[in-house]
Amino acid sequence: MAEKHVTDAIVVHCIDFRFQKYLNDWLNEKVGEGNYDRLSIAGSVFDFEAVFEQVQLSGRLHEIKKVIFINHEDCGAYGEAGSRERHEVDLRAAREKIGERCVRDLEVELYYLHLDGTFEKVS
Ligand SMILES: [Zn+2]
Repeated sequence: MAEKHVTDAIVVHCIDFRFQKYLNDWLNEKVGEGNYDRLSIAGSVFDFEAVFEQVQLSGRLHEIKKVIFINHEDCGAYGEAGSRERHEVDLRAAREKIGERCVRDLEVELYYLHLDGTFEKVS
């Protein structure tokens, strides 16, 4: 069997090309280059079941301790429904489901990323 390799976190964010530079810079500074698994999926937590599958895999394969969910302003996956409130509701629901369903204790951090590249923490 292959040697086990572990990392700190999984980061989940949208595919939207406009935000990748912001994400790269922020993640390098905050989590450290090469210290995280990364899932790029339209709408981030929008399709939670698809996201959850990957979080579970990340946990099993790489023993992550933390999940970072990042939704963003003007997200095409949400379309007109993508109000600031809706993003916060979905992010908090995702955190709750992780808490309910994951066997291991995972720290969950939530962020709302603005069009100008500002990351705002969602409590
Ligand atoms: Zn998006």
